[in-house]
Amino acid sequence: MPVELHPTLNRRLFLSQAGAAVGGLALGTVLQAGVETAAPAELEAGWLALISDTHIDADLAKTNLGQNMAENLRAVVQDVLSQAQRPAGTFINGDLALKDGQTPDYEQLLNLLGPLRQAGLPIHLGLGNHDHRDHFLAVLKDPLQLQRAEASKYLSEVTLQMGTAQAPALLRVIVLDSLNKVNITPGLLGPEQLLWLQDHLDAPAHATVPTMVLVHHDPSNQTNALIDSDALLRVLGPRRQVKALFFGHTHVWSTKQQNDGLWLVNLPAVAYPFSNDQPLGWVQCRPRGNGVELELRAIGGNLTQNRQRVELAWR
Ligand SMILES: [Zn+2]
Repeated sequence: MPVELHPTLNRRLFLSQAGAAVGGLALGTVLQAGVETAAPAELEAGWLALISDTHIDADLAKTNLGQNMAENLRAVVQDVLSQAQRPAGTFINGDLALKDGQTPDYEQLLNLLGPLRQAGLPIHLGLGNHDHRDHFLAVLKDPLQLQRAEASKYLSEVTLQMGTAQAPALLRVIVLDSLNKVNITPGLLGPEQLLWLQDHLDAPAHATVPTMVLVHHDPSNQTNALIDSDALLRVLGPRRQVKALFFGHTHVWSTKQQNDGLWLVNLPAVAYPFSNDQPLGWVQCRPRGNGVELELRAIGGNLTQNRQRVELAWR
């Protein structure tokens, strides 16, 4: 089925509402998107909280690999809120739930995100292989103002006013959906979503705004990674307005730049590391000139890289 954008979607302005405003897209249905306006103080800040792999279980006391996932997410939420200024957007890049996305897992996730919601911060969620799309929507749709997905994928998109009042800059963030089968490790975007992405990026209104794409699975040729990695990179590579691809899944913190200038950023997990050398935490993303600066905010695991800053100069 071809994917059509709702005609009112283009750069429609809307105000962030009390509670979390979440941009959601259902392929083949409608896209909630637009330029989120922020209070002047927040315009000065213009930073994003990038979070991945929270792996929340209904039982908040549950531990895995020696980590209490709920405690780790609480620490991340507290660290986000302790910054001098509030984020313009908070993104959680999939594997929200521990194993197979049970409804009570999402209820507890919602509870743990409570302080962010009470602060009125927009929260944007993506799905990973340990999520269940219908359970996710059943719990989070109304509280986080999600659009109902009628088709097989759930995406979100937002265009944010970043930079300072003197030097404002737009930044678009698109969150893709690589959940293929619940609790089956490899991910898949599928031709329909890739076609949508290609058409969407080629639309005149979207051809120049610097864009960051988030997807849960690593775009590699590893066995358990994104199956259609090459197809995704073929869409993103030539479209120069796409500056960076962020992913999670591997529970590893790393940044690298491809030969074509596209940045590949592996976000650390919140929940637990698969190897002792990895940090747990989140990444603060701030606009800096023609690019962004990332800062690792470690709350556990290997803390030696905590506060590491990496400049991503846009191609
Ligand atoms: Zn994970």
